[in-house]
Amino acid sequence: MLHLLDQTSEQFRDWLAQRDLPAYRAAQVRRWLFAERAESFEEMTDLGKSLRGLLAAEFTIWSAKVAAHRESPDGTEKLLLELADGHRIECVLLRDDKEHRTACISTQVGCAMGCVFCASGLDGVARNLSTGEILEQLLRLQRLLPKDERLTHIVVMGMGEPLANLPRLLPALETANRPDGLGISARRITISTVGLVPGIRRLAELDCQYHLAVSLHAPNDELRTRLVPTNRKIGIERILEAADEYFAKTGRRVTFEYVLLAGLNDQPEHAHQLAARLKGRPALVNLIPFNPVAELPYRTPKSTATVRFAEILQQNGLSVAIRYRKGDRIDAACGQLRRSTAYSGPTRAPET
Ligand code: SAH
Repeated sequence: MLHLLDQTSEQFRDWLAQRDLPAYRAAQVRRWLFAERAESFEEMTDLGKSLRGLLAAEFTIWSAKVAAHRESPDGTEKLLLELADGHRIECVLLRDDKEHRTACISTQVGCAMGCVFCASGLDGVARNLSTGEILEQLLRLQRLLPKDERLTHIVVMGMGEPLANLPRLLPALETANRPDGLGISARRITISTVGLVPGIRRLAELDCQYHLAVSLHAPNDELRTRLVPTNRKIGIERILEAADEYFAKTGRRVTFEYVLLAGLNDQPEHAHQLAARLKGRPALVNLIPFNPVAELPYRTPKSTATVRFAEILQQNGLSVAIRYRKGDRIDAACGQLRRSTAYSGPTRAPET
């Protein structure tokens, strides 16, 4: 069986052409999938019975199963998906009072970056997700919404490092962006990266208007390398240069994410150092109070420490946001639900 969402438009048109079927059938199927939220070929009533049978014999719409579905009182919903090979990934629907409906999606099974405070990377990476597996998360989250609501934003902030899987992520985002896909404008799609410089450059060259978020988490290399081990090979300066290039090419302001870990990177001196490093850049700093992970020793700072940190940045002319915690009760932070359920899936050697 082929995963329909893994087919490029060209591949699907070829499939139709080989069977002497008109190309407009592709648009019909697309509409059923993305606009009508069809669950099966059976529902695609204007295709005719024989074509529906033909499609069902060769393609599957869903390649994953929903292994768990959790809902939080704040409107956050999280799906644990079991992929065809038994691996498990997570995706989240976030609702806010501005009527934003945000899909948070994963790009890899696990993560190779090894950030010390993050649950996703505790077991390393198993593999990249396919374009279809990335799109399937979006379609499944969309189906949690009532028919008169649509997904308005995407954040690629689930499990994995998106820039380590760009060849599969970009076609999925392109489909999300298309008017006959999910119609979500590129400006409402955020790609969050640990700071892989070639990936940032590649995105800058594409000039695709996606919002770039860089997970900085520390104002100097010594501390960043302790928290984000992959920094050893990269270094903050090169990341900032690449972020500047992204802004210069796309005109899009870059967000710097900063997870606040009590006693480690949340002191006034860190805020001052960070302000000095980012000064003059058209940057937004997104402060994320640490979301506790059962196996890890780190602590969330007191809110007074968080506010003081934010104030120092603001006094130095930076734009700052503090990210509200959502869905704690359902283990919504990346990688947590997967760990809190008994089955963790087969493991195999990481792919490069
Ligand atoms: N690999 C990408 C996407 C990761 S998830 C990246 O590094 O940006 C998105 C954000 O959540 C990252 O900034 C990540 O560092 C942060 N994060 C991970 N675990 C967290 C936790 N337990 N509490 C708060 N933020 C966390």
